[in-house]
Amino acid sequence: MDKPDVESISGLSPAISIEQKSTSKNPRSTVGTVTEIYDYLRLLFARVGRPFCYSCGKEITSQTTSQIVDTIMGLPAGSRIIIYAPVVRGRKGEYKKELASFLRSGYVRGRVDGINYELTEPIELDKNKKHDIDVIIDRLVVKDGIEKRLADSLETADNLAGGIIKVEVIDGEELLFSKELACIDCGVSYPEMSPRMFSFNNPYGACNTCSGLGVKMYFDPDLIVADKSLSIREGAVVPWAKRTSVFFFQMIDAFARHYKFSLRTPFKKLPEKLQKIILYGSGEDKIKFYYEKDDQRRYIFQEKFEGVIGNLERRYKETESEYIRHEIEKFMNIRDCPECKGSRLKR
Ligand SMILES: [Zn+2]
Ligand SMILES: [Zn+2]
Repeated sequence: MDKPDVESISGLSPAISIEQKSTSKNPRSTVGTVTEIYDYLRLLFARVGRPFCYSCGKEITSQTTSQIVDTIMGLPAGSRIIIYAPVVRGRKGEYKKELASFLRSGYVRGRVDGINYELTEPIELDKNKKHDIDVIIDRLVVKDGIEKRLADSLETADNLAGGIIKVEVIDGEELLFSKELACIDCGVSYPEMSPRMFSFNNPYGACNTCSGLGVKMYFDPDLIVADKSLSIREGAVVPWAKRTSVFFFQMIDAFARHYKFSLRTPFKKLPEKLQKIILYGSGEDKIKFYYEKDDQRRYIFQEKFEGVIGNLERRYKETESEYIRHEIEKFMNIRDCPECKGSRLKR
């Protein structure tokens, strides 16, 4: 390197200054939010970001009605066009109700899977197949003076199809327009871009599954059965290991009898299906539990088995004790949120 011009510079205030010690354990506070860099990023994305469809990855653009009118008026004079509202795009269903309601609203013609129909005639659709339904809004010949009617028809199509308009040029191509931020292929639409959309601390932007934390706590089977070479009797199921009540052991005995396994079999040797039942419960399967009270009488009742994790989940939700909460959290682990993959934001 060349020799620097000066030996030292002092008195410059730092661009970013944060202490390295963690001042806050709040997971909503990050380097980005503390330094306010995140605020600028949100603004940047909201103002100049280009939206892409989360389903197909295509860029999403939107046009105003007058822009669409201009495009259509730019077609050669005399071009014949049909304006459609693409109400169903590649989705399964019979759409009986929808078709009837279009007719009631005064739309008499449509195109189903590329074939023209009068909506007055019965249209049988295979509910297991994907269909495309376009309602015909208007037919026009491009020439001066149609602008007003064209704009009205575009608005109608837009309202009916939720932001997407299809225009067929007879003997020409088919044009698709999106008025809102909607993907013309998938129909995926976004609200207007705003900074709060990019904030994980705002319900408007935060992933619903993790509330914007990017991670989810979950009950980790490896923490619940820490040593799989132990049997249930030997304490394989850690949350059960400290249980001492006679009633509890009668329950476990009945459970083992119902599923015909020995409580002395190492956990890892139990069939996988049974391991799952122990952890996650018996589903709809009812088990005949019975227990003896001090009076030597037998009580029998049938009950679904909620599973170790089911039980922990329930108690975690119900308890008001910080101590129990803390005890139960020992069996929980953290992983990236399955919905946002840790990005903290909505799709
Ligand atoms: Zn798409
Ligand atoms: Zn999430």
